[in-house]
Amino acid sequence: MARITFLGTGGGRFMTVFQRLSTGGFRISSRNLMMNVDPGPGAILRMREVGLDPTKNNALFVSHCHPDHYTDTEVMIEAMTQGGTRVRGTLIAGESVMKDMDGFEKPISNFHLSKPEKAICAKPKEKYNLNEWCALETTKTKHSDPSAIGFMLKTPEGTIGYTADTELFPGLGQQFKGARVLILNVVRPLEKRIPWHLCTEDAAALIAEVKPKLAVLTHFGLAMYNENPSKQCEWISSKTGINTIAAKDGMSIYMEEDIEIKMNPQVGCEEPIAPSSLPEKM
Ligand SMILES: [Zn+2]
Repeated sequence: MARITFLGTGGGRFMTVFQRLSTGGFRISSRNLMMNVDPGPGAILRMREVGLDPTKNNALFVSHCHPDHYTDTEVMIEAMTQGGTRVRGTLIAGESVMKDMDGFEKPISNFHLSKPEKAICAKPKEKYNLNEWCALETTKTKHSDPSAIGFMLKTPEGTIGYTADTELFPGLGQQFKGARVLILNVVRPLEKRIPWHLCTEDAAALIAEVKPKLAVLTHFGLAMYNENPSKQCEWISSKTGINTIAAKDGMSIYMEEDIEIKMNPQVGCEEPIAPSSLPEKM
C-alpha cells in the first residue's frame, strides 16, 4: 500500500505568513520508502500532530528555493540522519536548493548537505532509483525559480505525479502521462491567473490531458482558499469527468487496488510516536 499524507495544503507568501492552512508539504510512503516532499514551515510540527515519525524517513524531495517549500529541510535532514549521527537517506533537490544560482542563495547549510547518504542536485528529466521498488523521475517546470522540479514517482501501487510550482506550458502534461494520482500545486482560483503558477482553469487543462485516476489539488494561496478549493475541484471534475479533490491538512490517500481517502485524527502531544532506534547520546 502507498500512502500520501498532506502535512499542509497552503502555499504562497501570505498563506505562509498567516497559516490559515499549514504549509508542510506532504509525505509519501510505499514499501520501505518514506519521503517528505517540500517541507515548508510547519512540516515537522504536522508530522508530530498526525503521528508520523520523521526519524523513519529515508528520502526527502525539495522542489525549489522558495520558503514555503524548503524551510523545514534542515530539521528533516536531522531527523532522517538521526540527529546527524548516521549517514542515511537520499536528498533530491532542485539546483537552487543545493547551490547559489539564478539569484537564489542556497538555503541548506553545507553541514546538513553532508549528512544524507546521497545529496542529489537534480535537473529535470533525471531518474533515480530510491529502492528496489520505487524510482523517481524529475520533471520540468516553468516557475520564477527556473531550477524548480517536479516528479513522477513509480511505486508498486502506481505512479504518483507532482507538478511542484509551475505555470502551464506546452509539454507540461506530457511528462505526467501514466500518473495514477496527480498532485497539482494550484495557488489561484478561476479567473485569477498569475504568472509562474497554476490556476483552476490551468489545472483542468492539465488534468484533462493527463487523465489520472485521481487528481489532487494542493498548495492553496489565500485567493484560492477564499474561493473554497473543494468548489473549484467540483468545477474541474464536471469539466473533465475526472475525480478531482482538494487536499486537506491531515488528509491521507491510500493507494491499493482502490484509492481511499481518510482524515488522520490529530494525535497531538499525548500520543507517543513509535520510537525508532535512536542513538542514546545525541
Ligand atoms: Zn515557488
